[in-house]
Amino acid sequence: MNILVLGSGGREHTFAWKIAQSPLCNELYVAPGNSGTAEVATNVNIGVTDFDAIKTLVLDKQIDLVVVGPEDPLVKGVHDYFLNDNQLKDVPVIGPQKAAAELEGSKEFAKEFMYRHNIPTAGYESFTKDSVEQGFAFLDTLQPPYVLKADGLAAGKGVVILNDLDEAKAELKSMLVDAKFGEASTKVVIEEFLDGIELSCFVLTDGENYKILPTAKDYKRIGEGDTGLNTGGMGAVSPVPFATDEFLNKIEERIVKPTIEGFKKDKLPYVGFVFIGLIKVGDDPKVIEYNVRMGDPETEVVFPRLKNDLVEILQAMGNGTLDTIDIDIDERAATTIMVVSGGYPEAYEKGKEITGIETIEDSIPFHAGAQLKDGKVVTSGGRVIAITSYGGTYKEAIKKSYQSIEKFNFDKMYYRKDIGFDL
Ligand code: AMP
Repeated sequence: MNILVLGSGGREHTFAWKIAQSPLCNELYVAPGNSGTAEVATNVNIGVTDFDAIKTLVLDKQIDLVVVGPEDPLVKGVHDYFLNDNQLKDVPVIGPQKAAAELEGSKEFAKEFMYRHNIPTAGYESFTKDSVEQGFAFLDTLQPPYVLKADGLAAGKGVVILNDLDEAKAELKSMLVDAKFGEASTKVVIEEFLDGIELSCFVLTDGENYKILPTAKDYKRIGEGDTGLNTGGMGAVSPVPFATDEFLNKIEERIVKPTIEGFKKDKLPYVGFVFIGLIKVGDDPKVIEYNVRMGDPETEVVFPRLKNDLVEILQAMGNGTLDTIDIDIDERAATTIMVVSGGYPEAYEKGKEITGIETIEDSIPFHAGAQLKDGKVVTSGGRVIAITSYGGTYKEAIKKSYQSIEKFNFDKMYYRKDIGFDL
């Protein structure tokens, strides 16, 4: 098979790394890719939402299957674009159609879905510019902290949690009236605050059947001890030590099954990965959010633990035969530490040469914001390289990742030294 992966982060390098191991894969392309994907595939410099250019590439290279990494093309309807095109309609796209991608594209849509299907989640109400006063009144009924969410995609920045009621009201006004997040905050969801520890669950579905991948926990904040600004993710651990079999069973019965059944009942066409952001409140799982693709950096710890041939799984997802697949998981733990550009998630410099990555032996370096330039690997983004390691325990794996980080360097590199600290 000829396969195309859309995206350019650590997640897509991990997809490409795993797909390239399959004897079923003939030619592998990544658009636009990075310096890591260039090691295992052919990069094609096309944007992930440039559907016409993607079409030309798919026809030109006789692509048999497309895997979509990030949410943006899904929310913009890349799968529907294929289905509506006579030349592309038989090429399977792994990623939900636009109607189902709304689960990530609109927080209100996701909350309504969860309520409709009795999936445990925080209580909420949503508001627009015309109902700011009602929003203030709703905030008056809640206890702090106050959770405000821009309804649409806001590059991971649309969730604001505040302790002070007046600040929460000012934030609501800024989102709705002053369009703080542009289009994304024309609607705002205000939610009950849930107190607990977070983890993520990943589900594969062909629209009918589902399979559950290992859980993972990521570390969102830039600073140690989970302090400072939110980032795309600074590290991850899989499996999650506190996710016991009993707890995993609750996740499957109360959340995964009703979610997949909900897709069917609501006629939401879903072939792809479902990323369920969960929080453990007492002994019970509740849903914080759905994402319609794999997580980054969680992919960098979940896929290395998958023993199956990923192409067989992707084919089964596309063909509706996922029930024939038995998921086989490596018993070892996997961890990843994200090495970022100094200054990230605020302003940072790019174009710094990365030296020494080739000397890493005990870990897998998954490239994220890194590109090839004049034969050198240079930084091109905030999150630069995810260093994944295996271990008998997550502690062993983390230790290996930290040792591997010593082996490479770029100007102003930064990483958290406490990944896994709370487990
Ligand atoms: P989201 O984009 O919806 O995942 O929210 C981003 C982050 O905000 C989550 O990973 C949580 O840490 C936090 N968060 C979101 N909703 C809640 C909630 N209802 N209670 C507590 N924390 C929340």
